[in-house]
This record gives sequence, structure tokens and C-alpha cells, in this order.
Amino acid sequence: MIKCSRCKSVFPATEEYFYRKTSSTTGWDYWCKNCRKIIDSKHSRTPEYRAKKKLFRVAHRESENARGLRRKATEKVKKPNAVSARDKLGRAVRDGKITKCPCVVCGNSRSHGHHSDYTKPLEVIWLCALHHREEHERLKAVGHNFNFGGRYAASSFVLSGGDIGISPNS
Ligand SMILES: [Zn+2]
Ligand SMILES: [Zn+2]
Ligand SMILES: [Zn+2]
Repeated sequence: MIKCSRCKSVFPATEEYFYRKTSSTTGWDYWCKNCRKIIDSKHSRTPEYRAKKKLFRVAHRESENARGLRRKATEKVKKPNAVSARDKLGRAVRDGKITKCPCVVCGNSRSHGHHSDYTKPLEVIWLCALHHREEHERLKAVGHNFNFGGRYAASSFVLSGGDIGISPNS
């Protein structure tokens, strides 16, 4: 028997009275089916409720965008070269001047362009998230200032007659 936490009635724990809810400790909903129905018809079906929900979603999304922009602005002050190099690279990829390559270490196609020299925005090494982080950690450990070459040679070059090179530099 389960006591509905809304109407306080006690019902047998069967599908006749409760919906199944895997996240609940009993495996059943906290509210009886009746209460569920009342609440559902009261809230989720009304246009006001839906409008509210939509507003929440939009506000949430906007705050996330704002956070992203703020992070970018802070980064721009701290690492202006990095941000402008990344922007230039992004535009070059979008315009088809540069082709994204798989991670030079593991071949993962979800790669980021890593700059070992921010003064050469189009000379990047394509690394997956994992190997990118590893490379940054390694560079940080050796006190690298991102103006000299890293461990890997640039794996993608400006397209000149279809010349895209992948050169894992072991
Ligand atoms: Zn109830
Ligand atoms: Zn990788
Ligand atoms: Zn990087």
C-alpha cells in the first residue's frame, strides 16, 4: 500500500492507482493517478503554464549564452592572441580555406585546432579534446608560452592546390 503524498489516500501499489516511477524509492509515483491527472490538467495543458515554461527555457538559454560571452570577453583580455587566432581559424574553416583533420594522435574526427603559435593562426595541430588537454598540460608543465612549436608539427596548412598534410610527429 502506498500513501499518496498529495491527497493522503492509501492505495494498493498497482498500476491501477499509481504510475511507475523508476527514480522513486518505491518504484511508484508519489502521487496517485488521480492526483497526477488533476495536476496535469491544471498545469501542463493550460496555455499559461506552457508560456511560463517556454519563458523559463528562453531565459535559461539566454543566461547560458551570456555566460559564454562573458567567458569569451575575459579570455580576450587575458589571452588576446589565443582568441583572435581561434576566431581566424574558425573563419578559415568555415570559408573552406582550411580543412579540419582528425586528431593526429588517435584519429578521432571530433578535433579542435590547437595552436602552438598564436601568431600563426592558420597553423594548427588537430587534436581531440583528450589529446588537446594533454598537450596543454604538457606545455604548461614545461612553461611553454605558445610562441614556439609544440610536440606535434602543424597538421593542417592553408589549402594550396589541395595540399592538406597530416603529419603526426612522434
Ligand atoms: Zn492522490
Ligand atoms: Zn586524440
Ligand atoms: Zn590548444
